[in-house]
Amino acid sequence: MGGLTRAEMRGRAQTVRGLVDPAALGSTLMHEHLIWNLTPPSQRGGDPGPEPGLENHWGMMTSTAGSPANLTQRSVDVAIEAVREAVEAGCSTIVELTIGGIDPDPEGLVRVSEATGCHIVMGCGHYVEEYQDPRNHERSVDSFAAEMVAQVREGAWGTSVRAGIIGEIGCQNPWTPLERRVLQGALIAQQETGAALTIHPGRRQDQPQEVMDFVRARGGDPSRTIMCHIDRTVFDDDALFRLADTGVVLEWDLFGQESCLYPLNPDVDMPNDAGRLRAIRKVLDRGHRGQVVIAHDICHRAHMTRWGGWGYGHIHKRVLPLMRRRGFSEDEIEEILVRTPRRLLTFA
Ligand SMILES: [Zn+2]
Repeated sequence: MGGLTRAEMRGRAQTVRGLVDPAALGSTLMHEHLIWNLTPPSQRGGDPGPEPGLENHWGMMTSTAGSPANLTQRSVDVAIEAVREAVEAGCSTIVELTIGGIDPDPEGLVRVSEATGCHIVMGCGHYVEEYQDPRNHERSVDSFAAEMVAQVREGAWGTSVRAGIIGEIGCQNPWTPLERRVLQGALIAQQETGAALTIHPGRRQDQPQEVMDFVRARGGDPSRTIMCHIDRTVFDDDALFRLADTGVVLEWDLFGQESCLYPLNPDVDMPNDAGRLRAIRKVLDRGHRGQVVIAHDICHRAHMTRWGGWGYGHIHKRVLPLMRRRGFSEDEIEEILVRTPRRLLTFA
């Protein structure tokens, strides 16, 4: 196999424009989408539904059913404009986790990075089962592992643009055999490349724990594993602390989403940003320093400022001041936005 060797990658981070000194990454959003298609495959090619706009913004925010048009963003120029807002607010690296099943555009990400100066670290692997290519059902753990290793070392999705992190690997509730094979392949790729692994868990409070038991049983490194979407998954302290005790990095990545009308699971009380900060405070106070990262997971056009949302600059513009008001120290803020992302994005 060609491509970069482990020795060439070790101690460096990998953006869509190549290997960089991790010290250059700076303030980092660990989970975003810039160019994506989250339309369920069964609805693709049909009526895209209404364009997101002022008159339907609230409806779009509280329903995923209405409009595939809201679930799709394919414009490099729109992404450039949106990333500029984050850069102007102080963000210097975005981790972009659009992967197999939701239409990654590696060369588009290169253009966004070139135009904005923002470092972009791309993910690899496959999202949840219903989005995956049906041919994946025939594939083995080793086939998935080899694909992800090559995406990090050589290039991804038919391009020479290399991934700098593995994931967001899709899991759901109940967790499917195909999703387990992809994750098992991702754990092999984590060991072979030294990349961090980021995981999208199913919407059940104990599903992240089920995933972490699987990770540990198969030799995964919890300290280099990130559990996404804590804000919509884990609600009681016991479950949160048990998960933190595995050593996994906990990711609150839905900053900006403040409605209890969470369309993907109306049974949960989605916290607002202050509620997210309260949960993070509890985890830090229990001693889990270096185990928290944050982001917006922007994946609907209505989340973007152009369509009336909060945009990729929200954390830097509004959440950081809120953190200071709520008693977070500058050292804690730097750990969450700079040091922990840098540690994770540096190849082991
Ligand atoms: Zn995501």
